[in-house]
Amino acid sequence: MQPEPLAPGTPRVQTVLGPVDPSRLGVVDAHDHLFLDSPALKGQSFGDLEPMVAEVEEARASGIATIVEMTPIGLGRRPDRMRELSWATGVAIVAASGYHRDAHYPEGHWVHAAPVELLADRILTDLRAGMHPTDWLGADVPLDPARAGAIKGGTSYHRISPSEARRLDAIGGAAAATGAAVLVHAEIGTMAHEIVDRLEAAGTSADRIALAHMDRNPDAELHAEVCARGVILEYDTVGRTKYHPDSVVLDLIERMVSAGHGSRLMLGLDLGQRDYLRAYGGGPGLRYLMTAFAPRLRRRLGDAAVDAILIANPARFYALPAGSAG
Ligand SMILES: [Zn+2]
Repeated sequence: MQPEPLAPGTPRVQTVLGPVDPSRLGVVDAHDHLFLDSPALKGQSFGDLEPMVAEVEEARASGIATIVEMTPIGLGRRPDRMRELSWATGVAIVAASGYHRDAHYPEGHWVHAAPVELLADRILTDLRAGMHPTDWLGADVPLDPARAGAIKGGTSYHRISPSEARRLDAIGGAAAATGAAVLVHAEIGTMAHEIVDRLEAAGTSADRIALAHMDRNPDAELHAEVCARGVILEYDTVGRTKYHPDSVVLDLIERMVSAGHGSRLMLGLDLGQRDYLRAYGGGPGLRYLMTAFAPRLRRRLGDAAVDAILIANPARFYALPAGSAG
């Protein structure tokens, strides 16, 4: 999908190749990783272009048209390779700014001690001017032309550390200033209300906030409460059989849709380890969402509900509002 000129003031999704009309995104994998290197995931990094072209080509053949790449600042983000990958495969890629939870940054990394203003400023640069190719480590080099199109956050298990809280404040402020969507890694689905409270206090409106991994804690009553605040839930344990069978996620989605929250759900795979990728000899691979899971979901819910979750909801969520910069 190539970007095309959009009339000034119309809503847009910022892909690494430029702005795209939200109605053109097609099926969206709302949270995944294409290049990643984290000290918390030793031996599981992946940064090569060639295997990822093969992986994303399989995803495209399965029906995925857009991938939201949620690798934040400092975790091996590769804006240059994301552009090449999008050109090579025709799949639209939305890149992320923002910061992960503490565990993903080594001791002494600049994000731990940086003041809120600096943390926010680097997000705004990513969104408005282009991503820094080495995330402000090493040489002073020009920005990549690819801009980020969304913001990632992250918190710990049953805890928001002081450093994570500072990063959430920066994320919330940057989201309020730009209208960009925020997706927060809620470790094992914990701290949902506290994350939303913190971002709202920083000025972000609830409908610009999504929580990732809530299906690690598949508690439909809690999820309904969070959705009632206006927040989006992004489920991403599909194919993660070590946690639970897909039937748990199918049951959860069915319950959420019948409770009237079908417009507040999105799906991703969050394949953040080399072992999860078919191109590196692992699995389930990026195609799994469409080849294995979506057909089962369609049998349960019908096409309209599934198309909302895969197409309409992420298009609405990741769209920068009319009149936003860019
Ligand atoms: Zn992730």
